[in-house]
Amino acid sequence: MNRMRRIFLSFVAVLSLFVLCARAEEKKVTIIPVAENLYLLAGIEGGNVAFLLTDKEAIVIDTGEAPRWGKLIVEAVKEMTGKPIGTVVLTHYHGDHVGGLQSFPESADIIGHDNMAEQKLRKTNEAHRKENIEKRYPEYIDTLKKNIEKLKAEKSPDLAKAEGELVSMEADFAEYKTMKVIYPDITFSDSLTISIGNETAELFHFGPAHTNADLVIYFPKQKVLHTGDLVFNNELPYIDWKAGSDTANWIAQLKEMQKWNIDKVIPGHGKLAGKEVLQAQMDYLIALRQAVADSIKKNESLDAMKKSISLPAYNNYSGQDVLPAEIEAVYHEMTAPATPATQTK
Ligand SMILES: [Zn+2]
Repeated sequence: MNRMRRIFLSFVAVLSLFVLCARAEEKKVTIIPVAENLYLLAGIEGGNVAFLLTDKEAIVIDTGEAPRWGKLIVEAVKEMTGKPIGTVVLTHYHGDHVGGLQSFPESADIIGHDNMAEQKLRKTNEAHRKENIEKRYPEYIDTLKKNIEKLKAEKSPDLAKAEGELVSMEADFAEYKTMKVIYPDITFSDSLTISIGNETAELFHFGPAHTNADLVIYFPKQKVLHTGDLVFNNELPYIDWKAGSDTANWIAQLKEMQKWNIDKVIPGHGKLAGKEVLQAQMDYLIALRQAVADSIKKNESLDAMKKSISLPAYNNYSGQDVLPAEIEAVYHEMTAPATPATQTK
């Protein structure tokens, strides 16, 4: 469910609080120390949120799925550090990473890649947003309601969970409809170093991977890497080909980062890990690409390969429902640019 939501809500932006609904589903935010002055916030819906504490301010990485999650982040950081949030770094523009932005202080500098700049965002996301509001949200809510009726009739033990999901989804939709798009104040092309007091965060963009606007954050003193969605730990990764994903380049980037001096990796999704998670993500993408390449060689159609391809070595990963979308993304990457004239679907 969260997975589906994450996929179809790929849009930058934010707003408005539905306090009652938020309270009903509010979770406890836990602050996990990662290394000196570097923390991970657990219990936030969306991509992994971290913060670096300098002697002047907190630098927060990503903002959660929706404004109510952003509010929880802001409160947790304030309570623990007593320092202002001076900088917010966005790993890319997917909704589960930027959705909480509106709850952050207006005085904070927002940093992202150049491709998050206004023109590009307008171009890539307005149609997507319209589709979400007019079609996808209403359809999804309708499906949930139908499912609840069915569970009621069956007196199913899953009823309470399904009702909770509906409350959460309706709250998300209400927030989404009133969102305003917030753009980064500062963008960069290849790299940017943030040095505040005695703390440093190095930001890098190595071309398209998960989207065309990914950045990773390396903390040299801590020897920690926040990969954004270049790593899904024990989850099937989302590959956003409509946003210019490139799995070949993604693999190359993971390979390059393996040369870095890294003790710990904060993935975009999934648990805090060691450096080995970079190899695991590479292995997955290589296996996926190989499977799609084999199907293309056998002249299988996209629809056929969506059904035929399975990756049994990764059956224990969460988010299995995303596999057909991954296959489609890799298929487009492998066929569309090279042979547009022969492309049939
Ligand atoms: Zn993402």
